Amino acid sequence: MPAVADPPSKRVPPRALVISAAALGVPMIAALGAPEALGEYGALLWLLAVIPAFLLAYHRGWKGAATALALGMASLSVTQVVATAMNIELPDLLLGVVVAYIGITLGIGGMAEQMHRDKDTVEMMAYTDGLTRLPNRRHIKLFLENEFAAAGRGRLLSTVLFDLDHFKQYNDRYGHAAGDEALRVFADVLARSTRRMNLSGRLGGEEFLTVLADTGPEGAMIFAERVRTVLKGHLLGDPPLSVSAGMATFHPGMRSADEFLAAADHALYQAKHAGRDRVKMFGNAMVESWDPPSLPPPSESEPQSEYPRAPEELGKTLPPATLLPHQVAEFGRGRSVLVVEHEDPARERVSDYLQSGGFAVYGATDAQSAIEKLAIDYDVVVVSYPLPSASGYDLVATVKSRWPATQVVVVTTADSAPEVVDAMRAGADQLLKKPFEMAELRVKIGNALRRRDRVASARMEARMLSVDSDERSAVTWTRIRAGLLGLVEAAELHDPYTRGHGERTASFAVVLGKHIGLNGAEITALEDGALLHGLGKLSVPTEVLGKDGALDPTDWLSVRNHPKSGRSMVEPIVTHDMTLAAITWHHERWDGTGYPDKLSGEAIPIAARITAIADALSAMVSGRAYRRAYAWEDAVSEIRKDFGTGFDPELGPVFEDALEQLHLIYLETAPAEG
Ligand code: GH3
Ligand code: MG
Ligand code: MG
Repeated sequence: MPAVADPPSKRVPPRALVISAAALGVPMIAALGAPEALGEYGALLWLLAVIPAFLLAYHRGWKGAATALALGMASLSVTQVVATAMNIELPDLLLGVVVAYIGITLGIGGMAEQMHRDKDTVEMMAYTDGLTRLPNRRHIKLFLENEFAAAGRGRLLSTVLFDLDHFKQYNDRYGHAAGDEALRVFADVLARSTRRMNLSGRLGGEEFLTVLADTGPEGAMIFAERVRTVLKGHLLGDPPLSVSAGMATFHPGMRSADEFLAAADHALYQAKHAGRDRVKMFGNAMVESWDPPSLPPPSESEPQSEYPRAPEELGKTLPPATLLPHQVAEFGRGRSVLVVEHEDPARERVSDYLQSGGFAVYGATDAQSAIEKLAIDYDVVVVSYPLPSASGYDLVATVKSRWPATQVVVVTTADSAPEVVDAMRAGADQLLKKPFEMAELRVKIGNALRRRDRVASARMEARMLSVDSDERSAVTWTRIRAGLLGLVEAAELHDPYTRGHGERTASFAVVLGKHIGLNGAEITALEDGALLHGLGKLSVPTEVLGKDGALDPTDWLSVRNHPKSGRSMVEPIVTHDMTLAAITWHHERWDGTGYPDKLSGEAIPIAARITAIADALSAMVSGRAYRRAYAWEDAVSEIRKDFGTGFDPELGPVFEDALEQLHLIYLETAPAEG
């Protein structure tokens, strides 16, 4: 760990140098200029050379004394040489004076060195925590301030604030000495996890801070998670002592290191609040949802945070109110928006406003050209209805399937109500009625950005957790999956004609996925999705599933919605997009006539396109309430007919390639006749 906060400068001040030069110059000039006038006593003037010895030793210890000695001897030698050349006789006493001078200087040097060592020790003690030997509050805060200044010049910076959980109880149960030992163990964990460029220290009590230079949120999250899990692995006490952490990454809107620290403290509070033993990140979302209580509400009716905060939190961990003006000025910094509006003046008006707020703004005049522009993961898409030749559904559903975190704000007039209902069903997030004030648009977009950040940071946290502890999450996932399989079984019992359908669909999907060259993680995600695709059936009444006649509109609605209910059942636990896509869109059709979102073509994620084939094949080879099982060959030819209409035509050849393996699975799983 770097020694920050070097002790107060060790450089010799110029004044001391001037005095030293004078102290050596005076005896030289006197010896050469007025030897007779001074006589033997002129030698005593050389004792002035002790002054530089004092001064330099004071500032530089031994090295200073040695330098003074060398300078003194050099002056004396020069004087001797010049005196000889000028035939001046130096006093005899000089030899005695020189010997005394050397003795005094060595003495001063020795003392100064001792003094310097003591001073270093005191200084080290002043910057080190006595119990844990980690840098103390003063040290770590100095380091943080240095790094904060560097971050202002464009360097990455993150910080993690740790606080041991229920440490008071730990002390109460195991005694104060055990508490101290636990603090030392944690300090050791922290020190071992901290790289040379960074610094970890004890802020006080059971709070510790790590400053991570050149580190963004992902790295900081990995670091904090590692510390958290390693501490838990030490099994201190029962239940094992755990730690909560709040993490913050530098944001140009932060005015001081204290504000930066307050951000981490805020996240720590969230971690404690959410149940301890976890790491929480202070995200952009939070930066923007800070609405300091001391400020009057801004004129543009700044949206309120959707998270209610505990009263004791207010004013305690919140950063100074200075953040707000920045929020206003930097509203759209680093954000992108796609504005879809048919009428040029209206589109330009909105675009100009957003541009002036710092957004990167893209425009489109109709649904088709908007869809073509969806290669980018916009923060927000603003869609104005009515749009020529487009339903309210398609564009929104396409955005949502491609970029689940992108927020859609729908702008509407009274006569476009049907489109708007469709758009909301397709997953639009915010609604704005025409005509509107820019301030209203601002509020909607502010809400949308906050929601997007929340979704994005939740996804990132989930990903980080799995990156950091693959093993742990593999175990956890195995358990979760076992639980989900129980649910799949329940869904299949609920609809007896589908027994074993999930597993068979998954096996078919894996074969197809391998044939198109998906990687290992993708295959697993696809497999999970195909396995779980029927979960939503639990939300369809048994009578509807068992009906062999036509479905009435209400029945049909519950069938239509089953993929989305399936999604909402697993969404809190499953994070892989492909898994979620397979569950949500396995009933979409290539030609856009499927459900629930009427997606078409490549707007349907590949996992769903594969699962659709696997599902259809598996369903056909087992019986249904309304028909008998197909023979293998018949099922295959039914599938073949559907490429280009129901299924992705490019998967046709893949299907043919995979046919032999699919058949083996069919034989293995020997579906019961229905
Ligand atoms: P929480 O999970 O909310 O953080 O609960 P907590 O009990 O850790 O809460 P709090 O921060 O109020 O308690 C901190 C405790 O840490 C109080 C004190 O008993 C203990 N503590 C602080 N410094 C030391 C120390 O140097 N040695 C020991 N053994 N205990 C300390
Ligand atoms: Mg505490
Ligand atoms: Mg604590």
